[in-house]
Formats: sequence, C-alpha cells, structure tokens
Amino acid sequence: MAYRKRRKLRLKKGAYVVIVLLILLVVGIVKGIEYKKQKDYEATYEYKLITKGYSLEDAKFLDSKYDNAKKDKLLELESTDNIIDLINQKYFLFRNLDTYLEYIKDNDSEKLSEVVAICNVHANNKWYTYDLDTDISKKELMIVNKFYTMDKSYEPANMKSISLSYSYGSEGDNQLIDYAYDKFMEMAEEATEAGFHLMVTSSYRNYEDQEEIYNYRKTSYGERKADQTAARPGHSEHQSGLVIDMTSKEEAYADEFSVSETYKWLKENAYRYGFIERYPEGKTYLTGYSAESWHWRYVGVKAATTIHEENITFDEYYEYYVLGDN
Ligand SMILES: [Zn+2]
Repeated sequence: MAYRKRRKLRLKKGAYVVIVLLILLVVGIVKGIEYKKQKDYEATYEYKLITKGYSLEDAKFLDSKYDNAKKDKLLELESTDNIIDLINQKYFLFRNLDTYLEYIKDNDSEKLSEVVAICNVHANNKWYTYDLDTDISKKELMIVNKFYTMDKSYEPANMKSISLSYSYGSEGDNQLIDYAYDKFMEMAEEATEAGFHLMVTSSYRNYEDQEEIYNYRKTSYGERKADQTAARPGHSEHQSGLVIDMTSKEEAYADEFSVSETYKWLKENAYRYGFIERYPEGKTYLTGYSAESWHWRYVGVKAATTIHEENITFDEYYEYYVLGDN
C-alpha cells in the first residue's frame, strides 16, 4: 500500500516537470517567432521610413510608390521636410528631388508647385549658364530654349514656303517644316473663315540669321535687353523650322496684335492645329522671354492640347511629358 502511494507521487512529480518544460518550450517558440517577425519588419522599407520620421501612412505610401533605389535615396536625405508635399505636386520629377530641396533652402517662401516648375525647366539657374543639346530626334517635340542649344549646322529637311496670301516679304521668305506647314495652312484657312486673316512675318531662320539679329540688338540695347527679346544664336526656336511669328492683316503691329480679336481666336483655337503660344504673359520666369503674342510654335495636336488644357509652358511640358522621370 505504502509503495503504490509513493509511486503515484513520483509519477505526479514527473508529469509536472514535463508540463513546465512544455510550457517553457511553447513560450520560447512564440517569443522566437515574435523576435523573427520583428527583425523581418525592421528590415522593411516601411519600418526604415518610419524610423526616418515618416508617419505610418506616408511610409506605406512611399513604400508602394517607389522602387528600392528611390527609397534608399529618400532614406539618405537629411530630413523628411517637404518631401511628401513635393511628391504630391502634379509635375514632381524624382530625378530633380535634390534640386528642389536645394532651391527651397534659398527660397523657403516659394510655393512648392512653383519650386517644381522652376527647377524642372532649369530656371533655378541663370539663363545661358549651361548648355544641353537639343534632341532633334524628338521632331516636333524638340526643345530649344536658353539651356538647350541647336547645333550650328542644323537645317530642317522638307521645308515648304508659305504663300504671300498668308505671309509678308517675298515668295520663299517664310518656310516651315512640311507637317507644320500643312497644319498652319489648315489653321489659316479656318481663321479666314472665322474672319481673321493670319499673316506670317517671320518663320525659319538659320544660325547666321539669328546671330545677326541678336548681335544687332546687343549692340543697340545691351546684352540684358537683347536677351529679353531675342534668342542667342543656337538658342532660337526659329532655327527648328517649327515656328511662325504672326500678326493679322487687320493688326499689323505687335502691340495691337496682343489685344486683338485675332490673337484671342488663336489663344482659343491654335492648339487644335498643334500650335501653342510659346512665351505667354506671366511666364517669363520659366521661359526667359517677355510675352510674345506673335510667336507660335508647332508641337503637334496632342502636346498642344495638353499644354492648352493644363496652362503650362512647352518647357514644362517637355521636361515632364517628353523626358519624364528617367
Ligand atoms: Zn519668334
């Protein structure tokens, strides 16, 4: 009797030990899993971005929006200030992020939409301070401005002469690349039907022509004034063969033209033929030119429609829509 009792007790003791060990094992496994989970989470960009100072929501947004290289870049930045607001700007380009942040340092009261616009078109630099090559393979979307230069020898192929019914000067004086010419003729004819007689005063100019114009203005008015009204050679869109300076039969002078009904008609309709007002009022800080109501550029109907609808300059369009974020 006494022996059986002792055996029962010993059994009981053994069972307790096993149970305790099992509990310890389970707790150990659970803790281990938790630890592994935590370590795995700490390796994620979401966690790293939160540690950097982003909210959970912003970290999730950045994590799903960008590839690892871009997320690494965000983690390397000094701070998170302005980043989310910048990214939410319509024309934000990741490739310009450093430039935006640098620009904000010196211009902290500037609206972020303006920071993006200015830096996208390189206007955070002084005009003509560096040269980028105009990519002529972009055809009607090629850009020529105070940072993009055309090769001295570039001459457009397949030019057509605008007849004297729609241009001043002598026969053959005013030429456009054929596809721009066709759309100009369509536009001029429809304008005539609407009661506005368009007249081209200048169109294609080669490098030497532009050199002459620019140097004349520089000698007469000084470099600053010359730069406001004429392009330096190699920087003139007129060399592309995609540009017309226009007035109308009714308003022969530029100052009349800018307040004319013809100009109003062009502003409302030219985009349907692929033409845009290249240097609009109020955009000098982006284009580098005072408003030129007479200077119209062919960019094709698709680009012209976007530019018209979004009220942006071609410079902004080119950087965002043509080059994009590569
Ligand atoms: Zn012009």
